[in-house]
Amino acid sequence: MMKTKGYIIVGGGYAAMFYAHRLIKNNKSFVVFYDGERGASQVSAGIINPVVLKKFTTFWKAAEQISALEETLEEMKQYTKESFLIKAPIHRIFHDEQEKKLWLKKYDENPKLKHFLSPNFSYIEGVENPFGTGMVEHSARLDVNNFFHSMLGYLQEQGCLIQEKFIYDRLDMKQSVYDGIRFKNILFAEGIKVRENPYFNDLDIRSNKGHHINIKLSKAVDSSLTIKKKHFLFSNEQEFCYYGGTYDRENTNEGIDEKAVSQLEQGLSEFYKHDYELLSAHYGFRPTVKDRRPLVGRHRYYDNMFIFNGLGARGILNGNYFSELLYQNIEHNVPLPEEVGVYRFNANNQS
Ligand SMILES: Cc1cc2nc3c(=O)[nH]c(=O)nc-3n(C[C@H](O)[C@H](O)[C@H](O)COP(=O)(O)OP(=O)(O)OC[C@H]3O[C@@H](n4cnc5c(N)ncnc54)[C@H](O)[C@@H]3O)c2cc1C
Repeated sequence: MMKTKGYIIVGGGYAAMFYAHRLIKNNKSFVVFYDGERGASQVSAGIINPVVLKKFTTFWKAAEQISALEETLEEMKQYTKESFLIKAPIHRIFHDEQEKKLWLKKYDENPKLKHFLSPNFSYIEGVENPFGTGMVEHSARLDVNNFFHSMLGYLQEQGCLIQEKFIYDRLDMKQSVYDGIRFKNILFAEGIKVRENPYFNDLDIRSNKGHHINIKLSKAVDSSLTIKKKHFLFSNEQEFCYYGGTYDRENTNEGIDEKAVSQLEQGLSEFYKHDYELLSAHYGFRPTVKDRRPLVGRHRYYDNMFIFNGLGARGILNGNYFSELLYQNIEHNVPLPEEVGVYRFNANNQS
């Protein structure tokens, strides 16, 4: 018998989960097709960071994104009974005195950054930080494992999760039917695998491969903070530390790259001078867009087909913030910002 759903969502990462949350919140019926593979989201560090830590700048809608995420995580707590927010602010290790001056200059001159850059520097035990560290206010971490475990578990319980690969050939867009499911809207949120999607494979979404390592430190570092020098270091609940991630736009091959692992070990040795054990290495492909803004919106020809992709290096903040904008667009015709237009790079720019 044919089932009818408000939405089909294809994907199982941040884009799919944050959009599913909008539907739960608004009592819409839906199913999520998730192939069960670990995408970029599942290997991500979970950092929630409003500042670009190379140059001490901020980015488009950072403040709005931070407060929107706090609100969403509170809402998720109501039905998952779990808290995913880890209040372990980022402490950026300064390379030299110049950087400290730059930090303070940005703090004084830019009202947006004043909100995020703490002017009070501190020193961290157990790591080399001769010039001290600057703390990023309003930064935090998402408990990544628990987030996916709980969200997918909840969807499963509610009968909203289909643990299968979505097969594009089975989609009948004339009838809006897939495998016995009639849907009002279909949303593709497949991360980098969007390349296999015949409806959206003309979009310029590029992969950026990232690795992280899990390590066991011989001398523990303060677990109430997230340390950043070249990459991020923090301890998680499983008694090991996460250190990562790298960026590689060129390599699109599956598998661990020894070069990336050495790069991480090198980065770590710059500020962690004690022994550690390398437990494992992991990688994922960030779906990125050349102007660093997501691709969100409706298909060129099909009025009830949508894409949510290009979350880049900020899957959590982008995923949450733009899921609400997309929901308002689909359900209430509120226009999406042109900056995230799906066809903004295509020749005739038609949307
Ligand atoms: C090492 C690393 C560290 C990172 N750290 C952070 C961080 O600290 N903070 C942050 O905000 N971001 C971080 N990111 C970026 C973030 O992970 C990405 O922006 C985000 O994961 C993209 O989410 P997504 O849902 O679009 O794609 P994905 O996470 O790739 O999810 C898509 C999922 O859909 C599934 N899927 C695809 N096609 C189908 C199909 N046909 N049928 C069924 N299922 C399908 C895939 O298998 C995949 O699991 C990091 C990324 C990496 C690689």
